[in-house]
Amino acid sequence: MEKESETHIKSGRPQSGVWKYFDRGESKGDGHWKGTCKYCKKFYPCAKPNALYAHLVNNCKDISKDNLNDISIDKPLTGKSVIT
Ligand SMILES: [Zn+2]
Repeated sequence: MEKESETHIKSGRPQSGVWKYFDRGESKGDGHWKGTCKYCKKFYPCAKPNALYAHLVNNCKDISKDNLNDISIDKPLTGKSVIT
């Protein structure tokens, strides 16, 4: 019996935590999406997680600090649990 090759799902599209705060639109076909801020409705024709994150922490007037604390862009969503 042949061993199945590892079902490694290559993360071609990192599910950044920032997408919780943006409505993702159409795919651009190159790993980027259109995105709209759920809070102030700013539209990004080519939304990149870094730019979205910068918007949330620097520019978004309508997001609350509580929501900002919840952003986990730097932490892998499926990392080992370090919650104590
Ligand atoms: Zn915003």
